Amino acid sequence: MDTLERYYSYNRYLQNTFGGKTYKVVVASGLTCPTRDGTLAKGGCAFCDVRGSSSYFGKKGRGNEIQDQIRNRLPAIRERFGATHFLAYFQSYTNTYSDTEYLRTIYEAALSEPGISGLCVGTRPDCLPDSVIDLLEELAKKSYISLELGVQSFENPTLDWLTRGHDRQSSIDALTRLRARAPHVNVCVHLIFGSPTDSIHGPDEAAEILNSFQVEGVKLHQLMILEHTELAQRFRENPFPILSLEAYTDQVIRFLERLSPKMYIERLYANATHNDECLAPDWSKNRWDTHNQMRDLFESRNCIQGARCNDLPIAMPLGTPSRSEDAPQLPASG
Ligand code: SF4
Repeated sequence: MDTLERYYSYNRYLQNTFGGKTYKVVVASGLTCPTRDGTLAKGGCAFCDVRGSSSYFGKKGRGNEIQDQIRNRLPAIRERFGATHFLAYFQSYTNTYSDTEYLRTIYEAALSEPGISGLCVGTRPDCLPDSVIDLLEELAKKSYISLELGVQSFENPTLDWLTRGHDRQSSIDALTRLRARAPHVNVCVHLIFGSPTDSIHGPDEAAEILNSFQVEGVKLHQLMILEHTELAQRFRENPFPILSLEAYTDQVIRFLERLSPKMYIERLYANATHNDECLAPDWSKNRWDTHNQMRDLFESRNCIQGARCNDLPIAMPLGTPSRSEDAPQLPASG
């Protein structure tokens, strides 16, 4: 493999931003989502298994509980990974799905913990009223705030198939208001490639939309079929096509080549944390084999982020899978 980085890795972004080894410390907000509490639906999005954080479901903690979670986790992460900077990561469920008073309490509690350099907040585009965006902007003027926005797709047939409960316009509206009202907030968009409803031009269009909004980062996932989800049931009853690693990488390459090289890539693919609970695709189960095969495909195709976009491409050491306290097997935030 050569020594060129073919995309702007999250590790390098963190190094550039914080100047040292930075890890995300997962904390639970105690919030739910509109696709689980009955507001939009009850079963959750079709791909989502959030049992990993179910012990916190519905238990709204106050600030001191957030601080306890950080205090319980941070020392082990510091010791194990030699990290010097930490971000509190409100990962599972929809972490803006509450009144601003409660959100302020939990966000400020996390930010007040020694060692915490900022927040990452996972949410959905239809759960971002202006009042919440304004709160995030207020905090972002003093601290690093990254909003992890679960767009998942800009194609309505795919959003319907994933039972997201929002449409493409909802994501466009959220991105428009974020850029207008919250210029200090870092925005990282989550996307899923591989739904059978995806159009062939989906990755191209997604890159162009993200370029137009100049978001800071992107997190990519393949469609995974996990136990305890609606997709698992559908897949068993009527199996649908799943992308091979080569086909998925093809979509990732199309996307990356059109994406501005200024945007960091937090993740290129997801890996299953419980192999026995992943029905498909099989390549989700082997983190390093998949990484190596993708790297080889990038090499053979000479994929460079931004090569087909107007911004200049980059040249840095090859990225490695991103760092966080754990490696969740699904995009369970937002
Ligand atoms: S993907 Fe996000 S919004 Fe959908 S059910 Fe899972 S946590 Fe809730």
